[in-house]
Amino acid sequence: MSETLFEKIMAREIPADIVLETETTLAFRDINPRATTHVLVIPKTRYRNVADLAAADPQLLADVISTADEVAKLEGVAASGYRVTFNTGDDAGQTVFHVHAHVLGGQSLGPEASR
Ligand code: 5GP
Repeated sequence: MSETLFEKIMAREIPADIVLETETTLAFRDINPRATTHVLVIPKTRYRNVADLAAADPQLLADVISTADEVAKLEGVAASGYRVTFNTGDDAGQTVFHVHAHVLGGQSLGPEASR
């Protein structure tokens, strides 16, 4: 698999506004925020999507979710509520094939999708 931009962010080759780093995960602000708080959480080991991650390493998926919750606390949105999404494939608009959780909050988010 060729490198994605998230490997470059992990290697500090591309700058990012890092919110939290743990032994197994990295959280940084989305460059194009779609909510008042919009942070991406990635596992440091690359999997293509959340299903591949869950199948290969359930503990690492749990680490991603724990980091997402820690980010929500740091951002002050844990009490008011936040959303965690994993875009998977074309219809969901996945553009980076290194699994990442979108942590969204800081405002009323509305329904998950429109139709
Ligand atoms: P996806 O669409 O794959 O679920 O999410 C990829 C996310 O990466 C998008 O929300 C997009 O705004 C974000 N993104 C794309 N390029 C960059 C970048 O260079 N830096 C950061 N911090 N986020 C990026």
